[in-house]
Amino acid sequence: MYYLILFIVFAIGASIGSFLNVVIYRVPRGESIVFPPSRCPHCGHKLAWYDMIPIVSYLILKGKCRYCGKSISPLYPVIEFITGVWTVLVFIMLFPGNIDAFVEVLVFGYFAIALSVIDMQLYILPNKILLPMAIFEIVWSVFALVMKWETFIDLRNRLIGAVVLLVFFLIIYYLVPDGMGEGDVKLSPIIGWFLGFPKIVPWFFIAFGLGAIVGVIFMLISKFTKGETKHVVPFGPFMLLGAILSWFYGIPIILWYRRLFFI
Ligand SMILES: [Zn+2]
Repeated sequence: MYYLILFIVFAIGASIGSFLNVVIYRVPRGESIVFPPSRCPHCGHKLAWYDMIPIVSYLILKGKCRYCGKSISPLYPVIEFITGVWTVLVFIMLFPGNIDAFVEVLVFGYFAIALSVIDMQLYILPNKILLPMAIFEIVWSVFALVMKWETFIDLRNRLIGAVVLLVFFLIIYYLVPDGMGEGDVKLSPIIGWFLGFPKIVPWFFIAFGLGAIVGVIFMLISKFTKGETKHVVPFGPFMLLGAILSWFYGIPIILWYRRLFFI
């Protein structure tokens, strides 16, 4: 029975992933995400409901458009799968014990998936996604406060997190203009608000650590290929992945670190 529930949760998550695909494709192009209905990007044929079943349709159609036969990017089913897995993981870890965190972490992850893919493809973090994300975070925190799931101390810690990250990113942005994008600066207070103090502390190490490791790997690749594949590594995905890891493991990391040095 539990596995049936998990399967349903996965299917719901994969459908949300299908919506994220629409967001990822249309938002950077300045198109509406509700209208017109989904079409093949090659031939423009309107897609039927059975062409849009997450993952399943891609497999049945063997990755090709039913109407024009051109291939469909495997990124679509991959994003649907990742979103489904993310939904199941958060469900297992936080439902039903912590509804407050369950909703906030789940939705934060959906925003994170859309932003990360767009940042990797186009090196931008669109305002049209950052703004709803910020509004969701603030509205949800106020709702959690009203429901007495969170206290004013939690709210104060969120505010500290947002201010510290924003100030830090503004300083870097003005000191090293090439190092940081405008979108990264705008994303920073949202992450600070999501994590709050003290989880922002391990976040610095995780986000910048991951970014540095991958940056070096890409530098080596470009060295081996004699600069033929020049890669710019966007920082947004590391900020977002770092936020999710810090949300779950930030406090254990802090405790581990303190035990290492104080006892
Ligand atoms: Zn087509």
